[in-house]
Amino acid sequence: MLNPLTILLVTVLSSAMAMAVLGSLWRATIPGVGYWISSNAVAIVALLAFALQGHASRWLTFVAANVLLAVSLLLVVEGCLRFLGHRARPWPAYAGLVAVLIGIAYWTFVVPDFNARVALVSAFHASLYAALAAIMLRGRPSNRPRYSYYFLAVAALLFCAGHASRGVMYGFGMLKQSGLMQVSPSNIVFLALGILAPPCLSIGVVMLAHDRLAERLERLANLDDLTGALSRRAFLAIGGALLNASLRSRSPLAMAIIDIDSFKAVNDTHGHAAGDQVLVHFTAFVAGNLRVGDVFGRLGGEEFGVLCPATTTAEAVTLLERLRERLAATAAADLPRGLRYTFSVGVDQHRRDESLAQLMARADGALYAAKESGRNRVMAAA
Ligand code: GH3
Ligand code: MG
Ligand code: MG
Repeated sequence: MLNPLTILLVTVLSSAMAMAVLGSLWRATIPGVGYWISSNAVAIVALLAFALQGHASRWLTFVAANVLLAVSLLLVVEGCLRFLGHRARPWPAYAGLVAVLIGIAYWTFVVPDFNARVALVSAFHASLYAALAAIMLRGRPSNRPRYSYYFLAVAALLFCAGHASRGVMYGFGMLKQSGLMQVSPSNIVFLALGILAPPCLSIGVVMLAHDRLAERLERLANLDDLTGALSRRAFLAIGGALLNASLRSRSPLAMAIIDIDSFKAVNDTHGHAAGDQVLVHFTAFVAGNLRVGDVFGRLGGEEFGVLCPATTTAEAVTLLERLRERLAATAAADLPRGLRYTFSVGVDQHRRDESLAQLMARADGALYAAKESGRNRVMAAA
């Protein structure tokens, strides 16, 4: 049962399954998925070519089989690079591939040597696995869960160790063998390790792709499309958490509601697109001027909210007043010529035993008062 041919065929089947699973992600246009599907297809061809050893030409069953297996791992690595947004090709790996091609041909036809072939191929695979582990560990975005990245890195390190030890044992003649299909304990152990690699890698990259899908959904739910600011939903959710934290630590929490002045006139005079530009400009301006820990979100239309932990009403008024003055002093180069805008703000501080909605309603009342008394000003709730 556990002979090399069975192992190869089981791996072929698992690669075919992996292609089917990865195919479900094709339409999501996630960078790398195309490489990962191709990698499995190439692996299937390579494994079938290995399985034909003794029944077909050595060009196919030795040279092409080994080179294609190396290509399939290279495609996994390339896919991971694309997934993480790298554009450059890993040229050293391609040079290694050429070396594998030349070495395999030499040790097949000129000086036939099974051990040398195994050592060469193992060295190539071990280096690619080491590179893959490094890519995963270095490339993991800090704001995403670690699990799938670490899974791939650990799997890659284990396979790197497996290939490295195989290369050393065969390269230094500790194991002697005449062909791949020979049934020997060491051959079976290494092949069985090899059988784990394609499904492990495929599971890992499928987890990566799923994390990317989750990230997209989180963005849709939490970030405003136009400005990239927190959506109302996310802003209120964070507000609830900040409120609980402020109650626990007995520190103040201030809220400001900001509304751009006469925004309808901006749209009417300069066009809706210019109005959109103002919203984007304002978001970038505020994001660049808030303190670490302050939370900013778009509540709807031209209305925004700011939550300031460990801040009193008076301090928040000072902060927003400074923001207002800075905007007035800024020449907005990225807005249409002659377009200037101002904003009004209502501010208040959380009181014990009230909800976030109640705090918001009072800040809104203060905003209304700011509008009533002439706009372009910051007012605290009475
Ligand atoms: P006020 O100073 O009293 O706040 O006056 P205003 O004109 O800013 O307020 P009003 O509520 O009368 O008008 C808000 C306008 O904002 C109306 C709406 O068409 C526009 N608006 C809402 N969302 C968007 C958006 O995403 N893009 C653009 N360009 N305009 C928007
Ligand atoms: Mg307005
Ligand atoms: Mg408004």
